[in-house]
Amino acid sequence: MTHSHVDIKSLKSLKKFEDVVAACNRCGFCTSYCPTYNATGSEQYSPRGRNQAFRALLEGKITDPALTKDIIDTCLLCGECTTICFSEVPTAQLMMLARDLTNKSIGLPLSLKVIIKFILPRPSLFYWMLKGSFFAKRLGLSWLFRKAGILGKLAPALAAADQLVDRVPLRFLKDHDRARAHQEEAILRAEHAYFENQQKLVSIKAAGKKVPESLLRAVDAKPQRPKIAYLPVCGSQYLRPSIGLATLELLQFLKLDFVIPDLLCCGLPAASYGMLESVREMAKENIKRLERGRYESVLADDSSCAAHAKEYPKFFQDDPDWLKRSTAVSQSVRELSSFLVQWGLIEHLKKAHWAYGPVAYHDPCKAQYGQKIVSPPRALLSAIPGLQLVPIAEADQCCGGGGTYSFVHPDMSRDVLSRKIKNITDTQCRTVVTSGSSCLIQLASGLKKKGSTIEVLHLSEFLVRVLKNKK
Ligand code: SF4
Ligand code: SF4
Repeated sequence: MTHSHVDIKSLKSLKKFEDVVAACNRCGFCTSYCPTYNATGSEQYSPRGRNQAFRALLEGKITDPALTKDIIDTCLLCGECTTICFSEVPTAQLMMLARDLTNKSIGLPLSLKVIIKFILPRPSLFYWMLKGSFFAKRLGLSWLFRKAGILGKLAPALAAADQLVDRVPLRFLKDHDRARAHQEEAILRAEHAYFENQQKLVSIKAAGKKVPESLLRAVDAKPQRPKIAYLPVCGSQYLRPSIGLATLELLQFLKLDFVIPDLLCCGLPAASYGMLESVREMAKENIKRLERGRYESVLADDSSCAAHAKEYPKFFQDDPDWLKRSTAVSQSVRELSSFLVQWGLIEHLKKAHWAYGPVAYHDPCKAQYGQKIVSPPRALLSAIPGLQLVPIAEADQCCGGGGTYSFVHPDMSRDVLSRKIKNITDTQCRTVVTSGSSCLIQLASGLKKKGSTIEVLHLSEFLVRVLKNKK
């Protein structure tokens, strides 16, 4: 085995976090709350073990980062440990930084670097790459390559993803009329036409000619820029567009005017791999585009992306200008369930009905720990007459989805998931509702493998179904 060395530049930039890591007094109180510890029973996969590994790297006690890579990479970044830690050690955040160090020292696979650095920041390229690969999957090519062992050798994470996601869409959110009408380009076109008409009016008046009625009417109808933006997250756009469509339907149901801005991926996958420069680049571009719209609320229907966009300022602590700009934008970000409560959906739900068996709600970690959002989804569900909301035991525990975690660490992810699936099936529910697309894919795959008929729906999909009162 070759010996790798710590990247000195990255180490120097992370030295300032030594005290934060050292705040872990090794009490071990968090251990039994950590899903990876619970799945393995191994100290190295506990928050304490992980903090000690990072500390040893920072203090130079471990000089080969390869020795700590697995310990650091297998953290689900769920954040549960921090909520129960008396010293509030931000282990998930520290593991993100630790990945920056280990990945810069050891290197990341080229394919991953290309996707994160080159494809994710280019929405149209990302769109076509996914279209092509989803089409290939529909044709059975990925299955063929996986069965032949080629995909597993070339890209093990892709092979795992291929197994986990069994049906992919060929039409993405922006291919649907419901979304097309609200795309930012449509608003920009309307604004452009308005200003052109205004100029025409000025020159006609200056020439002393009669102004046509149609022009007067067009100038009177100044296009209003909606104050709400729907953040088109990757899961709701590409992986399961029915989520995005359902969220748009809810916005229309509430008679809210909104725009779908042309944004990049929020940068969460880059953050999970500790590629912090890429996170900052994508965040800056999104902030610029959102500033242009001057939105009061930016709605994200995926808890993880909402939490990540709310955390943009954490990535600009050393840059006062961007810290200010990211803080302003992050304060406008709204998570779906609290947004729907705020805009009065509960009153509408009270008039609907549910008669299709008990429902359980699964809290995504980035909602319950990242944003402390637990009661709004329950308030929405409990408002529905006839709906029996059943609690899931150990609801505080992660499902093992964690964005791309289930593709990169399939064994650990499966171990964490099996406990969650048992807890869900024990509830005897007929439907599980959640608000994270990676949780949704993870739970659906685990339940299917178990032969369970429990259906997993995103909160938006479920609420639309309730409001239409059909199953
Ligand atoms: S992270 Fe907090 S709770 Fe866990 S061992 Fe360290 S100090 Fe104790
Ligand atoms: S963030 Fe989650 S997976 Fe990571 S150490 Fe803490 S509890 Fe364990």
